[in-house]
Amino acid sequence: MHEYHPPLAGRKGLRLDFNENTEGCSPRVLARIQEITADDLARYPEREPVEALVGAHLGLPAEQVLLTNGVDEGIHLLCEAYLEPSDEVMVVTPTFSMYEIFAEATGAKVVRVQCGEDLRFPFDKVTGAVSAATKLIAVASPNNPTGGVASRAELLEIAKSAPNAALLVDEAYFDFHGRTVLPDVAAQTNLFVARTFSKAYGLAGLRIGILVGPRGQMPLVRRVSSPYSVNAVALLALPEALADGEFVTNYVAQVKAGRARLEHELTQAGIIWWPSEANFVLMKTGERHREFVAAMRQRGILVRDRSADPGCDGCVRITLGTTAQIDRLLATLREVLAELKLGAEVKA
Ligand code: PMP
Repeated sequence: MHEYHPPLAGRKGLRLDFNENTEGCSPRVLARIQEITADDLARYPEREPVEALVGAHLGLPAEQVLLTNGVDEGIHLLCEAYLEPSDEVMVVTPTFSMYEIFAEATGAKVVRVQCGEDLRFPFDKVTGAVSAATKLIAVASPNNPTGGVASRAELLEIAKSAPNAALLVDEAYFDFHGRTVLPDVAAQTNLFVARTFSKAYGLAGLRIGILVGPRGQMPLVRRVSSPYSVNAVALLALPEALADGEFVTNYVAQVKAGRARLEHELTQAGIIWWPSEANFVLMKTGERHREFVAAMRQRGILVRDRSADPGCDGCVRITLGTTAQIDRLLATLREVLAELKLGAEVKA
């Protein structure tokens, strides 16, 4: 089995390494958490009323909504519900590691479909790789670490081409993209959508996400889940997080403006980068990726080396933040690129 050891140790500085909200969470969420009583914590957490509220927020019946301990748990539950050792699971690489990790734990065979050099979603390769043994297909859209997306038409075609498989569309970065297949869940028998509060909402430490799926399938998924995997603090905070839409809108606007500025800066410097619909950009620093990450860290900015990901040789991923943080990022980036003589090298 693969292991996933995220490099969380010693994260001092501006956090542009984990695609979190770099500002924090809504002050209203923090205020609600500060009001939590001993009695709130003494009780086992009750998930259903909050699922009804989330369902109403999304325009879906509560029975199709499962709150999870982050998207990570949603992935785990789908693997537990649908995979046997003789089955195949399809992942589109490079992508988020947890699909493979939870799939491998069931003994199923992982079939990797690799993006081309443009790192765009390889639709034809995906439909071509579907077999009778395919029981789960995981597609992150927007994808991590590329920032690329699969279109709604492509996703619906994949769901159709693999009627015996569950298709998980991981919309962890939905808020930065704005397009979704959530309304399509009602008409499909095998489409699941996952969302998280770890990114735009700034609640990665609370561990809360949503898994939405077909009416006929959700009871099977609930059966393999613990009734208490979402803790009381997360359940009490969630209604407040959903109510403060302004916090998310304001943050997303800053991230999108920052993304355009970073992309412009990289183009000016002659650095290769990939178009992103998420709160990060993947760029190619070439052979000096480690030095680049170290030089940024020395100046107080954490970024993530992704050069070990398949097809991402020499690549670094930078998370976007608030306008003031982007100002600081761009000034530091200019300094580091000049110091390491990077733009010219990649351009040549
Ligand atoms: N899906 C994708 C595509 C991600 O990039 C991440 C976080 N890196 C997750 C899921 C995990 O989300 P959560 O914190 O909700 O478990």
